[in-house]
Amino acid sequence: MDIYDELGVKKLINCAGTYTVVGGSRMSQNSLEAICEAARNHVLIKDMQKAVNSKIAEMTNNEACCVTAGAMVGVYLAMASCVSLKHGKAIRYISSEDLAKTEILMFRAHRNPYDRGLSLIGCKLVEVGYANNIDMIDEYGFECAINENTAGVLYLPSTDGGWVPPGALSFEKTVEICSRHNIPVVVDAAAQLPPKSNLWNFTQHGAAAVLFSGGKYLCGPQTAGLCLGKKYLLDWVDANNFPNYGIGRIHKVGREELAGMYVAVKEYINRDEALELENAEKIVEMFTSSFNKDDSFEFVRAFPNEAGQPMARAKLIIHNSLFSAEKIRDWLLEQDRAVFSMVENGYLYVNPMTITKEEAEYILEKYKELNAKGEI
Ligand SMILES: *Cc1c(COP(=O)(O)O)cnc(C)c1O
Repeated sequence: MDIYDELGVKKLINCAGTYTVVGGSRMSQNSLEAICEAARNHVLIKDMQKAVNSKIAEMTNNEACCVTAGAMVGVYLAMASCVSLKHGKAIRYISSEDLAKTEILMFRAHRNPYDRGLSLIGCKLVEVGYANNIDMIDEYGFECAINENTAGVLYLPSTDGGWVPPGALSFEKTVEICSRHNIPVVVDAAAQLPPKSNLWNFTQHGAAAVLFSGGKYLCGPQTAGLCLGKKYLLDWVDANNFPNYGIGRIHKVGREELAGMYVAVKEYINRDEALELENAEKIVEMFTSSFNKDDSFEFVRAFPNEAGQPMARAKLIIHNSLFSAEKIRDWLLEQDRAVFSMVENGYLYVNPMTITKEEAEYILEKYKELNAKGEI
């Protein structure tokens, strides 16, 4: 009997991906152990932050780092720090009038539920362009949105096949224009690992900061994330952040998560990404080769995945009208050993990112069982 049995909470095999609703990824064993070790002793949090942040900065080829309580908090803290940079003060010392007239700029195509925290800063969020192909924004249109109150730009990298719609300037163009106006660009790359090189690519190409989720592919604590980037901005992140009584106090990161994040990053830097991508291909191949068009359904390889990560998934194509993606999803979830998957734009997928080989084999058996039944 484990903790979930004791609590009566149903355990899930997660073949949807690193979705937070099911806990993102599985933490690495070493990261977990680091958390236990860290919990055993007291330290000055500032000492621990300094040590962990400087080591992570070094490992990721960045000037500075701040471990945050997740990427969404990173978005909030980094943009708040653009505001601090503009006013030369931590947020708690800036008057609400000054905050209210300060602007954060975003392409409308980049708006998403993770930018909601920005409203807590108390400044204006200015949108530019449209989230589609009509009247595409150009350099002039973007420059017209910049003025003396603009503190920073929040940017979402779009990846082929990911969920970010068209309607923004390229990252390179955005950085070029912003650097002319001395405006920091912050990149929300929460789910943009792999590739590993994204840890330094954006910041080496002009972003002031980039944010990552700790609980996705990094396999660190689910309640942690990374803000990486230039010292001139990260100094303000520190000023606003816990353990100071600033805006960062509401989402503190303990010594346990700091230790867990440090070990997760250290491990990730040494992980064999090519091998992981190859293993993912093998799982996808297991599914695509098991059924064909004479069966109730078959799988095809889909690439890249839902977040635009360069990792293949198996996409279910249904031939038998007695089945539907929703019915299959529900049936898998009802099994004693429940399988959690998600329907996206009408399609069901098996995402190898969050399953073991054994779990993949079990899921395949379930699909074979379903195919043999011929109906639900
Ligand atoms: C997952 C995600 C986040 C949130 O990450 P957390 O670490 O869970 O806070 C933010 N932005 C984007 C684009 C994401 O995909």
